[in-house]
Amino acid sequence: MNLDPSPCQSCGACCAHYRVSFYWQEAVQRGLDEGMLVQVSPWQVCFRGTEAKPVRCVNLEGEVGSCVSCRIYEQRTTPCRSVEMGDEKCLQARAAHGMGALE
Ligand code: SF4
Ligand code: SF4
Repeated sequence: MNLDPSPCQSCGACCAHYRVSFYWQEAVQRGLDEGMLVQVSPWQVCFRGTEAKPVRCVNLEGEVGSCVSCRIYEQRTTPCRSVEMGDEKCLQARAAHGMGALE
């Protein structure tokens, strides 16, 4: 999710579609609370809520497709930042939530 520009603020689909996993050390570096993490391999953790379907990141607030925000926006991790508005992963997540392509 990218909160600037604003279309992400009325979407949130990527935060409710993919497993958001990353190297455990990134969690330490970003000061993330252990309670929001699930271990998925010896070296990888993911955000709680994204480890199984239906996916919804524990840090996502609001209603997907309506009005959303990320509780830890400043601390969001590499996979969160890697989804670009309008890219393939974005469009795939939006489609899974019944939303069309962005204009
Ligand atoms: S799916 Fe695309 S538009 Fe929706 S929040 Fe993620 S990056 Fe933004
Ligand atoms: S941490 Fe924030 S940006 Fe990353 S998946 Fe969760 S709600 Fe989305």
